[in-house]
Amino acid sequence: MIFHERRSPVLFNVAGLLQARAGATKTFDISIGRLSTVDGPINDVFGQVKLMRTDSTILVSAHLRAIMDAQCARCAEQATVDLAILIEEEFQPTNIDLGRGKRKENAHDDCFRIGRDNILDLSEAIRQTAAGAMPIAAMCRGNCLGLCTSCAANRNISHCNCDEMIGDPRWQPLDVMGLHDRQ
Ligand SMILES: [Zn+2]
Ligand SMILES: [Zn+2]
Repeated sequence: MIFHERRSPVLFNVAGLLQARAGATKTFDISIGRLSTVDGPINDVFGQVKLMRTDSTILVSAHLRAIMDAQCARCAEQATVDLAILIEEEFQPTNIDLGRGKRKENAHDDCFRIGRDNILDLSEAIRQTAAGAMPIAAMCRGNCLGLCTSCAANRNISHCNCDEMIGDPRWQPLDVMGLHDRQ
């Protein structure tokens, strides 16, 4: 089956857990080759997801690692970033009132929700946490040499002569001689 959706879900059926006592847990090891998100693909997502029934929600504790593509801050070539994705989020059920009619005062509307089919989709939480874990300045390699500020050559690939032409003290005596010749 081919899915044409841009986003791909990470789904857990929590119907059983919603009926269990508070404190009940379920742990899953996940390994996803490619998770498509609006921010672009998140690759090689793997790690452990623990779901715990609280008094009125499912608390998700996930310790994941993933790889995302980025642009090198120095040379603008593609960089891959190894991300640690630590999620600690409560998901509220939509079709079962676990609080037995009592609405929690601190329940905020922007929290994650479990679907009406008792399916908990973790993909949005993964996307948000991955976005927050992205470094401000990604690097293609630890010692990226960046672009030449004069000619924009990628110094990892080619060595330009700009540094030698500008400010090389060995050229200065020749410049002085040139000036004298013109006078
Ligand atoms: Zn670079
Ligand atoms: Zn240059």
